[in-house]
Amino acid sequence: MKFAITSRGDQTSNALKMKMKNYLLDFNLIFDEKEPDIVISIGGDGTFLYAFHQYQHRLDKTAFVGVHTGHLGFYADWVPSEIEKLVIELARTPFSVVEYPILETIVRHIDGGKETLYLALNEATIRATEGSLVIDVEIKGQKFETFRGDGLCVSTPSGSTAYNKALGGAIIHPSIEAIQVTEMASINNRVFRTIGSPLILPAHHTLLLRPKKETDLLVTVDHKTILHNDVKSIQCRVADQKVRFARYRPFPFWNRVRDSFVGDERPKFLPDEINKR
Ligand code: NAP
Repeated sequence: MKFAITSRGDQTSNALKMKMKNYLLDFNLIFDEKEPDIVISIGGDGTFLYAFHQYQHRLDKTAFVGVHTGHLGFYADWVPSEIEKLVIELARTPFSVVEYPILETIVRHIDGGKETLYLALNEATIRATEGSLVIDVEIKGQKFETFRGDGLCVSTPSGSTAYNKALGGAIIHPSIEAIQVTEMASINNRVFRTIGSPLILPAHHTLLLRPKKETDLLVTVDHKTILHNDVKSIQCRVADQKVRFARYRPFPFWNRVRDSFVGDERPKFLPDEINKR
């Protein structure tokens, strides 16, 4: 089996990368950064996003596994103390694969020139370069609303715990093939009105955004920001491709959500004690 390792680049992650690489070579696995069967990301969820984009052209042939060298991650869920165990699991191919949906975004231009297709693991966001974004929102070929505000975020189920969550979006289990649209500070008054709630679209519904005012837009795709001039439309839908994770043990999504956002901390004071204070 061929493997590659991406590191966040800090000392701890780099040292772990060297250690894992040597272990895996000892097990006769082949180091191949061009065409790996498995990519090990060492760092955090941010590092995982980089790894995903580095190998997004071969998602059907590459599976990912993440080791976190900071806090618990959604994509990076192995800890450094477990790497010997992980190496043994990796050497014992074949591995089982879990697939999560990703987002396809196509930007089309007014002059009808070349369109650009992006795949996102977390989300794409659309903002104006100056002032408010004013954009028509179409769902499945029907006008839904005109959005005015800071921007729109379109996220995947696994990205629902990232920027989407900060915008008040729902957390969606990644077994659900859907995308979620959340608003960034929409303008709502007697003149302008938007739905105000996050929208969850199934895989067979396409979202089409047509700018009404400014056509120069800032599009972010996960960690990258791209300026697009003269935008005619931006189309978002659940991609045909999926991201594949090599799974060696169960780590249910809801456990990761709980451990990341709720923790197992007990209340510092019991209700009775609170009443006494
Ligand atoms: P960053 O600004 O350096 O870090 C963003 C944070 O989001 C990091 O703590 C990262 O975890 C975490 N994260 C990434 N994917 C996640 C996921 N699926 N679920 C939960 N947390 C996640 O940026 P970056 O490292 O390049 O990552 C880009 C991502 O940042 C974007 O895709 C967007 O989702 C997120 N972002 C969030 C906000 C916000 O919450 N207000 C604003 C802008 C962007 P690690 O520390 O493990 O890397």
